[in-house]
Amino acid sequence: MLRPVLQFPDPRLREKAQPVAKDEVTPELRQLAADMAETMYDEPGIGLAATQVGVAKRLIVMDLDWSDDGERNPRMLLNPEIVRREGRATSEMEGCLSVPDFKSDVERDARVLVRARSLDWEELEFDATELEAFCFQHEIDHLDGMLFIDRVSKLKRDLYVRRRKKQLRREQEEREAAGHPGG
Ligand SMILES: [Zn+2]
Repeated sequence: MLRPVLQFPDPRLREKAQPVAKDEVTPELRQLAADMAETMYDEPGIGLAATQVGVAKRLIVMDLDWSDDGERNPRMLLNPEIVRREGRATSEMEGCLSVPDFKSDVERDARVLVRARSLDWEELEFDATELEAFCFQHEIDHLDGMLFIDRVSKLKRDLYVRRRKKQLRREQEEREAAGHPGG
């Protein structure tokens, strides 16, 4: 089932997600992970954090190199944590499903060592660089209530926030003009 992706400035995107305990890996949580993967492919994107679908739990899904005709192997990870970071690099033209119509270069760690649990509670470790490293940092930021626009210059962020508010106001006016006052 597709889940609606929350969009900036929804305050739920700012919530800090709670760790998942072993006995919380229920059929419902597995369904949530499957729904998140389906939503990620549908949007389309390469990563999605539970925070983005309004669930404040430390769960992310990732698939860096899926294609419409190829096999899909989404990673579904619980409690991902960066345990070591190395160097700096530029994540070029980063974007986010929760931040519509904005892309920007972002300064990030060049290499990260990530520990996480699978849904079967296996301990996993990823030594990630380049896009994989950037994606891990982006999704783990979501779990901490942080968005990539927090990592760009204040000037760029302010311009985007102003543009986004204007866009939301316009959408609201259009709804009202059509006789469907929005909530
Ligand atoms: Zn994002």
